[in-house]
Amino acid sequence: MMMMRLFQGTPWDRLPTCDHCGKETDQCRCDPPSPATTTVPPPENQKLQIRVEKRRKGKTVTVIKGLQFGDLESKKTFLASLKDHCGAGGRSENDVFEIQGDQSQKLLNLLAAKGYRVSHC
Ligand SMILES: [Zn+2]
Repeated sequence: MMMMRLFQGTPWDRLPTCDHCGKETDQCRCDPPSPATTTVPPPENQKLQIRVEKRRKGKTVTVIKGLQFGDLESKKTFLASLKDHCGAGGRSENDVFEIQGDQSQKLLNLLAAKGYRVSHC
């Protein structure tokens, strides 16, 4: 992310800091910020797949594939909203979202309400 340095060369000049950890960017060990926002199709043009998978030790997760985001921040916000909606933990990796438990019905409803086309497989 580009930051303006309004006070460059004055006592108020500060090195840019990371939005995530608050450290100066040369100290930061976070993932690099995503490049400039890319264009992603609107929800109605994103074809998602949702399915429930059994994992080891009898754990069940609901997997959503195909979500596209223009930047990391909106992806994080979206994951948080899914977890909130289901009251469950979850994570995302690339375009795969995993929410703990069988949340397929809740997630289908939520994604449909946001305008996505979802197929249940
Ligand atoms: Zn950082």
